[in-house]
Amino acid sequence: METQILKADELDAVCEKAGEILKKGGLVAFPTETVYGLGGDAFNPDSSRKIYAAKGRPSDNPLIVHIAELSALDKLSADIPQTLYDLAEAFWPGPLTMIIKKRESVPCETTGGLDTVAIRMPDHPVALKLIRAGGGYIAAPSANASGRPSPTLASHVAEDLSGRIDMIIDGGEVGIGIESTIVDLSGEVPMILRPGYVTHDMLSRILGHVESDPTLMKKTEGGRPKAPGMRYRHYAPKGDMQLFAGDMACVAETINKKVARSSKKCGILCCDESAGLYDNAVIRSLGSRSDLRSVALNIYRALREFDDEGIEEIYAESFDTDGFGQAVMNRMLKAAGYNIINTEETK
Ligand code: AMP
Ligand code: MG
Repeated sequence: METQILKADELDAVCEKAGEILKKGGLVAFPTETVYGLGGDAFNPDSSRKIYAAKGRPSDNPLIVHIAELSALDKLSADIPQTLYDLAEAFWPGPLTMIIKKRESVPCETTGGLDTVAIRMPDHPVALKLIRAGGGYIAAPSANASGRPSPTLASHVAEDLSGRIDMIIDGGEVGIGIESTIVDLSGEVPMILRPGYVTHDMLSRILGHVESDPTLMKKTEGGRPKAPGMRYRHYAPKGDMQLFAGDMACVAETINKKVARSSKKCGILCCDESAGLYDNAVIRSLGSRSDLRSVALNIYRALREFDDEGIEEIYAESFDTDGFGQAVMNRMLKAAGYNIINTEETK
């Protein structure tokens, strides 16, 4: 299959063409404010099967259904809690996915066999226009090959999925760079299954009590993450990755020693404030510690660049887990297979 790559400049014409592809059961990758998504018609089981096949994704890992208007909810669920409307008013369109009980008519292929459905209204003009052009319901996971970092540029999608999908809409770089927050509203207490730009505090302000899945920030032994997708080793770079926590000077000293002793090609992920402390490795600053948004935007791109450069060992600084930092560190911990060393303890 030849994959068409179209710039999102002539938005109406591009979305009309892409919408036709979706309605016929084809797949279109498109930009959102979080990462690029790989879309298919959520009510067509064949489209969902094709998404799993194109990504090489296990079929028990459910997809998120993207909508463009609140009125679309009725076709997805007969059991919509007031909490969804409250959160939608505060955060939609935006980087928040909500899980509720599904209607029978939502295909099991789309929800990975679950009786719940994950729903999001993205905050991106291309995504919203495409959803409307494609019939109103687009099932879309991130548009990467399973196991690779999520795409923040159309070129990342092309690297992973060219020849496997019908079209890629190139809308430039995404805004946030890590996937949406997922909150499960199908149980008694709202539960965060994946941290994202919408933080625990932001959700608590609307909902009052919110819990976080206890498996978010540590390796799961026994405890099973509630979002099936969090179970798989995601975001894995090709090189071995290790994270280092502690005071900046201490972390830099430890990493420099590791690099000096290594015979492998080493890469370092640091921040603007510490970049000058390192030597003798491929050094990438993720941005300033005072601007976690820039850090989030650069994580997946940096990991892909390290893969391209053949980096065999990755040494990365840690970030504070307050606020949006929880989402940033969740992705870095997953990329590192939860391999984290506290440099102040090992001194
Ligand atoms: P992705 O868009 O690639 O990040 O994948 C969607 C994420 O949403 C995966 O981690 C899924 O496990 C999660 N997800 C989707 N639907 C559900 C659901 N009904 N229950 C729990 N998690 C879900
Ligand atoms: Mg994904």
